Amino acid sequence: MEIYKTYKFRLYPTDEQRILINKTLGCKRFVYNYYLNYLKDNNGINRFDLHKDLSKLKKENEFLKEVDSTVLCSTIDDLCKAFSDYYAKRKGYPKFKNRFSKHSYRTSCIRSRHKEKEYSNIELDLLTRNIKLPKLGKVKIRGFRNKDKIEGKILNATISRESTGKYYVSVVVVEDLLVEKVTPTSIVGIDLGIKDLVITSDGIKYGNDKVLMKFEKKLKRLQRKLSRQEKASKNYLKTKEKIARIYAKIKNYRKHYLNDIANEIVDEHDIIVTESLLVKDMFKEKKKAFNKSLSDACVSTLRSLIEWKCKIKGKFYYKINTYYPSSQICSYCGYKNSKLKDLSIREYDCPKCGSYNDRDINASLNILLEGLKLHYNLVSIV
Ligand SMILES: [Zn+2]
Repeated sequence: MEIYKTYKFRLYPTDEQRILINKTLGCKRFVYNYYLNYLKDNNGINRFDLHKDLSKLKKENEFLKEVDSTVLCSTIDDLCKAFSDYYAKRKGYPKFKNRFSKHSYRTSCIRSRHKEKEYSNIELDLLTRNIKLPKLGKVKIRGFRNKDKIEGKILNATISRESTGKYYVSVVVVEDLLVEKVTPTSIVGIDLGIKDLVITSDGIKYGNDKVLMKFEKKLKRLQRKLSRQEKASKNYLKTKEKIARIYAKIKNYRKHYLNDIANEIVDEHDIIVTESLLVKDMFKEKKKAFNKSLSDACVSTLRSLIEWKCKIKGKFYYKINTYYPSSQICSYCGYKNSKLKDLSIREYDCPKCGSYNDRDINASLNILLEGLKLHYNLVSIV
């Protein structure tokens, strides 16, 4: 099985390298905006025409030759993707990029052979903590301290400048992995919840982390402060940078938290079942009942983390139907109690069989049962 992995390192460019990175970001923006404008008045032009035109554009604008040429090619591909997303009604009409748009560029790995030796324009050396990048040469990196080698072939690298002023590189690697499916001995149903982030059918709950809440409070305070400050003043910019730093902290903290939960669940069970409900739909259904911590908790991220970890560890992962009313059905007798549509009822005794049910654990038990049916290809009787 081929799997893709991304390794993100902090980059420490020299002054010279920093200037070149910023130049490359500028050229990327220039090419993107140039062709976005060009496509407005020229219909029926495809990707190949644009790539052909790019060499003409480069002749007219010498500065484009100073930067990594694969970046400019991938910029055209990005623009084409933006248009196809627009035509497929997935996204709005592509917008012009300004200085405040996302700062990153992708460069492809190109390999060549010369006298029996293989060369590559992107090389990762974890012993000396360097990465060789096109045009930039060797740049110092930090991250993955416990690794001295990375398996697999490098596909591309994305260099980014965050609003905190830090530089990063994300390296995408394709790895051939031999995975044998385990013989399942345990199964768990997982309810992705509102009050608690995760409730397993074993009765284990993972809450929305308190540290995250603390960050959130701080963030709110700063945002209030920002709204009172004079725009573009020195203090305004200072507050803005502080906000960016907290956002970055929340992002990192959440990533670790979700990873830990996913690891724990996948390590302890062989068959894992979740609902396929999308967070987006949940919000649509009941906007007020769901608080911000739910969106922060990133239910969908957690789900894809679990799915991916199951894949590489040879375990089984099932998603069950979105509209299956897992929280309304008694997991003991199968009685459907529509009164439970009221989200404020957290625990109850089943009116038919009298069993005590905790709303969330009952839901995860039902999810488990549905997953079990799926696993053994039984037809759903509900
Ligand atoms: Zn019952």
